[in-house]
Order: sequence, then C-alpha cells, then structure tokens
Amino acid sequence: MSEIHKDLNKHPCFNPAMKGQAGRVHLPVAPNCNIKCNYCDRKYDCVNESRPGVTSTILTPEQALVYMGKVLEKEPRITVAGIAGPGDPFANAEATMETMRLINKNYPQMILCLASNGLAIGPYIPELAELNVSHVTVTINAVDPEVGAKIYGWVRDGKVAYQGRQAAELLLSRQLEAVKSLKAHGITVKINSILIPGINDRHILKVAETMRELGADLFNCMAMFPNVGTPFGTIREPSKEEVGAMRTEAEKFLPQMRHCTRCRADAVGLLDQDRTEEMRGCLSACAQ
Ligand code: SF4
Ligand code: SF4
Repeated sequence: MSEIHKDLNKHPCFNPAMKGQAGRVHLPVAPNCNIKCNYCDRKYDCVNESRPGVTSTILTPEQALVYMGKVLEKEPRITVAGIAGPGDPFANAEATMETMRLINKNYPQMILCLASNGLAIGPYIPELAELNVSHVTVTINAVDPEVGAKIYGWVRDGKVAYQGRQAAELLLSRQLEAVKSLKAHGITVKINSILIPGINDRHILKVAETMRELGADLFNCMAMFPNVGTPFGTIREPSKEEVGAMRTEAEKFLPQMRHCTRCRADAVGLLDQDRTEEMRGCLSACAQ
C-alpha cells in the first residue's frame, strides 16, 4: 500500500470505540448485482449491508465526489467513505473503481471501505490496495456448496449464469480466493454472515472457523431480514438472543462485531447518530 494519509483506527465499524466519534458515508454507485441471494429483495437495498427501505438514489462516480464534499461540509466527523450497494460493487466495477480513485485523490484522509459478495472482486484487489482501500467486507453465508446451493438462486459470471451446486461452488471458490488475496495485500477483512434459521444456522461456526484459517480479521453474524415475496420470505427472523449466542460461539474463532446497525446503501453519519434522512435532499440534488 502506498503512503497512508489517514488514521485507519478511525473506522467506526471495525473499531467500536470510534462509533460515537467517527462516521461513515455510503456512496450508492453500484445498482446491479451478479448473484441472487434468496433473502434479497432488489427493490430494496443490498442486505449485505443494509436493512429494507426505500430504494437509494444512484450516483455516478463524479456525482459521488460532489456528494462527498457536501456531506463533509455538514458532517466533518465522517472518516470513512464506503460502497455497499445497493447491489454489488464489482457487478458495477467501473463505477466502483472510478469512485475509489476520485475519493482517494481528492480526499486522501478518508478511510476507503467496500462491501462485496466476493464473486468478482479478485482482479481488482491489487488496484484497491494501491488506492489505499484499507477495509473490505465479504459476505460469506456458507463454506459448503450443499448449504450455499440453498441460499443462492443463481450466480452470474460474465455472460454465463449458474444455478444450484455449480453456482454455490463457483461463488465459494471466488470468495475463498478473495479473502486470501485481500489479506495478502494487507487489507483488513470483515466477514458478514447472514444467519438464516433452518438453512445455515448450524453452519455459521464452520464459516467463522474457515475464515480464521484464511486470516480474516473480524466476523459479523447478522440476522436475516425476511423480505416478503422472496424465497426466504416465510422464514422467521432470528431473535437477538439467537444472534447473540451465535456470536459468543463464533468468538472462539474470530473477534465479533456486535454493534452493526445494518445500514442502508446510502447511510450517512455516526453509527449511533444516523443522518441519512437529513442528507436525502442533498443526495438527490447531487444525482440531478
Ligand atoms: Fe442482494 Fe446483496 Fe445478495 Fe446481491 S449480494 S443478491 S444485492 S443481498
Ligand atoms: Fe458498519 Fe454494519 Fe453499517 Fe456496514 S452495515 S457500515 S458494518 S454498521
């Protein structure tokens, strides 16, 4: 990684001590996705990093740069610029990479962060490291293709779409390579795992163990939100107690994130002082 112009400890998601002092802005430049999670409702934001809500405004990279400036005028405590959908950053790789280039050049003090399903990030990892992208989250819900085949409706690689076990195998192999490569490039890696009762609840610990072996830094077990009309719409949402118990078990393998607020793809502000609603006008104005 080239010269660091920033304090990497000031990421409120990776460092809970910062959550009342430092904030994040998600730049919604990535509308498309290259996989279909059976809990996802694409009318809403990516549940990789969000809770259901109204669809985000989509910005171009240039608009995201203007928006970044406006957000910092209103909320100078923002230390992190991230891309968390509403689809996958690398199903929109051109927009994602250009946004990272623009923010790195114009706001070198910003910590750069991305959240991805890991399918298509691989070829971009060397440039991400050069651009000082320091924090990446990969959502990995299964490390066994039998389990993965129940979670993913399809996986699209270029022009070819896969289903069933083949889809799950492809996604898993890319995810494992991505985590290894991110670590080899000195990037801090968080794993998000969506807890889906009856599907992967007995498997999450295996995910955590495998991720420890690959050198991941942090594990974030999140409750699935049952979106009505999706294949998993009738599965119940796991309780706080179930998620808490899973985190306690998974802590044997990796440090746990316990303060995730399941932010939207256009979230802005401190984690415990969200200003997304307030900034909505500014976001829409930048999209014009
Ligand atoms: Fe939806 Fe995110 Fe899964 Fe894509 S990766 S299908 S946007 S939850
Ligand atoms: Fe941080 Fe969780 Fe919000 Fe992502 S969804 S920005 S990890 S608090």
